[in-house]
Amino acid sequence: MPFVITDPCIGTKDAACVDVCPVDCIHPRKDEPEFATATILYIHPEECIDCGACVPACPVAAIYDSAESTPASQKALVEANAVYRAGEPDAVARAEAIVKSHIETHPDLIAVPPAERAAAHA
Ligand code: SF4
Ligand code: SF4
Repeated sequence: MPFVITDPCIGTKDAACVDVCPVDCIHPRKDEPEFATATILYIHPEECIDCGACVPACPVAAIYDSAESTPASQKALVEANAVYRAGEPDAVARAEAIVKSHIETHPDLIAVPPAERAAAHA
């Protein structure tokens, strides 16, 4: 099962995970035009090889190792990771719409500082 990026990435987005991913499946990278406007980064579910390197690299514990292990409050972001495709405007817009909806429906979580947000996941 592919790994999943969740909401502690919002407000962090430092791309530390991109630097350690051996198969370049986390996007947008800093050198891609979508990086400036992306709310979070996304893991391509078919390209991820489940190596786990990104998990300890993330300073805010935003990455879960499967859809199943992703907490209930973060399930919508499994779909956001699944639909995102770098360079495909419709896919990018769909993924970002899911993330923005998540922000609107979870103001309690988003109010928590990113470094403490994963601990608040339910
Ligand atoms: S688990 Fe490995 S392959 Fe998958 S996104 Fe993380 S670093 Fe990349
Ligand atoms: S390392 Fe974590 S916070 Fe940084 S971009 Fe990757 S998922 Fe987001």
